Amino acid sequence: MTAQIIDGKAIAAQIREEIRADVARMQQTYGKVPGLAAVLVGDRKDSQTYVRMKKKACAEVGIASFGYDLPADIGQDELRRLVEELNANPDVHGILVQLPLPSHIDEETILGAISIEKDVDGFHPLNIGRLSMKRREPLFVPCTPKGCIELIERSGFTIEGKRAVVLGRSNIVGLPAAMLLLHKNATVTICHSRTRNLPSIVREAEILVAAVGRAEMVRGDWVRPGAVVIDVGVNAVDDPNDPRGYRLVGDVAFDEVKEVAAAITPVPGGVGPMTIAMLLRNTTDAAMRALGMK
Ligand code: NDP
Repeated sequence: MTAQIIDGKAIAAQIREEIRADVARMQQTYGKVPGLAAVLVGDRKDSQTYVRMKKKACAEVGIASFGYDLPADIGQDELRRLVEELNANPDVHGILVQLPLPSHIDEETILGAISIEKDVDGFHPLNIGRLSMKRREPLFVPCTPKGCIELIERSGFTIEGKRAVVLGRSNIVGLPAAMLLLHKNATVTICHSRTRNLPSIVREAEILVAAVGRAEMVRGDWVRPGAVVIDVGVNAVDDPNDPRGYRLVGDVAFDEVKEVAAAITPVPGGVGPMTIAMLLRNTTDAAMRALGMK
């Protein structure tokens, strides 16, 4: 059996179209568009690239973005004051503080200062707490795990009642992905670096989400025939045949696993494009909620 390849680019494009339509409707009815404030502290090249990509994606669907580029030595109080100003600004519906922050700034304090109505990254402790509780709805869910769920459901697979295994328990991917699967009534196992007999646990999964950051760790014989495999990992491996000298691979050995699974996301072109699409979705939802459209 050769797996269905879940095309994250195509699904993300479809979601961006839906967002564009919502933004146009908002502009027609209320004369407003969603606004995203992107706060970048310091001069990390990777963070600059992510913020640039996010702003560009906003512009493409009609979302206004406001950039705040701050020096690496900004004080925590000053940063918190900016977040509070943005909380009070009616043109800003979503606030994104690009992580990681410099080490002298307490991440939890800053994330906790964002109004939960504007927490479009879904990292506010209250939103994470609600995600972890039964019958509580967070206002926002972190973008990458939300994208994983969209990929599964929009590809026509049901989650309810399935055995799901999540590899990784980070705050931004593994843990919220597991909570979302649980909310969708899967039976969930979370694995991490201390898990014993990893392959045999993975082999139980009807839905597998891999978010460990280890190149091609999940082999073909780890995967249950007919599983749906969502590969979040992005790992650079040396490749002298590539002009860049490297190529990107996931946490799953794609060529082996695609012969066993029912469906699999490629890397790149799977989960990656969904993360930004979900940020745009969350920002638009925040604006729709603020205007009473939701
Ligand atoms: P972290 O490093 O924060 O977490 C990795 C997790 O994997 C940890 O829970 C760790 O366990 C676990 N782990 C590490 N090694 C092993 C192992 N050998 N066996 C079992 N578990 C292991 O990473 P992130 O969650 O931030 O990211 C994971 C991957 O997803 C990375 O490749 C990252 O680049 C990618 N990513 C992709 C995104 C996208 O948009 N496509 C967005 C975000 C991340 P422990 O807790 O015990 O240390």
